[in-house]
Amino acid sequence: MTTKEDVLIRIEDVHKIFGELHALNGISGEIKRGEVVVIIGPSGSGKSTLLRSLNLLEVPSKGHIYFDGVDITDKKVDINKHRQKMGMVFQHFNLFPHKTILQNITLAPVKLLKKDKKEAEEEAMKLLERVGLEGKANAYPSQLSGGQKQRIAIVRSLAMKPDVMLFDEPTSALDPEMVGEVLDLMKQLAKEGMTMVVVTHEMGFAREVGTRVVFMDEGQIKEEGEPEEFFTRPKEPRLQEFLSKIL
Ligand code: ADP
Ligand code: MG
Repeated sequence: MTTKEDVLIRIEDVHKIFGELHALNGISGEIKRGEVVVIIGPSGSGKSTLLRSLNLLEVPSKGHIYFDGVDITDKKVDINKHRQKMGMVFQHFNLFPHKTILQNITLAPVKLLKKDKKEAEEEAMKLLERVGLEGKANAYPSQLSGGQKQRIAIVRSLAMKPDVMLFDEPTSALDPEMVGEVLDLMKQLAKEGMTMVVVTHEMGFAREVGTRVVFMDEGQIKEEGEPEEFFTRPKEPRLQEFLSKIL
């Protein structure tokens, strides 16, 4: 049985309209603590818009999003406070190019969480050790490979001790040989119980790590289910067609 406390994010009839375009067309659902929800779907189906709506990088045109019981679409809510609890990792790492790796990681904890600089640096070093990149603390992003940059982007988010991690195609911009190291880190996080929402084309990851897979098309959730059932017995013709193209 699901209790109210188990639900971290609740999405209620969310719509997003860009001019004439209905990018999200009535999305509802819940994300429970510890779940790894994988979102798949064709280009332009609204995956990024949905992910960005979860932390209000996109403001829904209609509908509500509750995070930890708080309606963050309520204009009276201080969104920055809640956004800090949602780590976001993009396709293009978005590291600050003129700051060192250590500075990239400590910036937000010091500025937003008012952490002592020394303490933030110690925590950052631990995170770097975790991903085997402690030797890169004083390097600049341009000196790192794509896979290293993406792992730094992930631990930078972790330094804020988020309640959920949102990933938007985190491996799509990587050379193939670097995809594995990023997926491995994401797998570790999942194993540790991190709540994750992951937009990806990596079906192996979806099958192995996902607790639930969601298929989006034309701004709607067309099908969702546990990976095994979802991939072996897709019901919607659009999903069958999509899977036949990518598997
Ligand atoms: P996906 O991530 O599934 O490829 P997106 O969420 O990026 O899809 O986009 C869904 C639709 O919304 C697309 O048609 C896209 O062109 C459109 N769109 C996304 N962001 C904007 C924006 N800021 N302004 C106008 N149209 C947008
Ligand atoms: Mg996208």
